[in-house]
Amino acid sequence: MSERNVGPASPESGPFWEATRERRLVLQWCTACEEPIQYPRSFCPRCQASGSSLEWRDASGLGVVYAIVVEHKPEAMGEESPYAVALVDLEEGVRLMTNIVGPDALSATISTGVRVTWEPLEDGRNLPLFEVSAAKQV
Ligand SMILES: [Zn+2]
Repeated sequence: MSERNVGPASPESGPFWEATRERRLVLQWCTACEEPIQYPRSFCPRCQASGSSLEWRDASGLGVVYAIVVEHKPEAMGEESPYAVALVDLEEGVRLMTNIVGPDALSATISTGVRVTWEPLEDGRNLPLFEVSAAKQV
C-alpha cells in the first residue's frame, strides 16, 4: 500500500481518480480546442468552454522525462526501491509531476522513455507513477 501523499479529490479531478480504480490514466480534453487540459478544471483555460465541451479520454500512459531529481532517502526509512521525482511529458502533450519508480528509476534521465505504472491506495484507487520503458527516446 502506498504511503505517498495523495491530495483529496476535487470535483474537477474526480473522474481522473475514479478511472484509476480500473488503472486507466485519463486526461481532460476540450473538444473545442482538441487539446488536453492539465490540471482538470471546470472550463478550458484557452477558450473558456465548459460543460459538454469538456470530456475525459484515455491517455496512452507513455511519455518522456522532461526533468528529474533523484531522491535519496535516509537508511532509517527502510528498503523502499529507489525513486526519482520527475516532470514527465505525456504523448498527449501534458506535463505531469510524478515519481519514477522501479529497478531502472535511477538510470532515468532527460528524454528517457517512461510508461505509467500503478501503486494501490487503501481506498481502491491507484496512484499513477512511471517506470522506465524499454526504448530510450532521443
Ligand atoms: Zn478549449
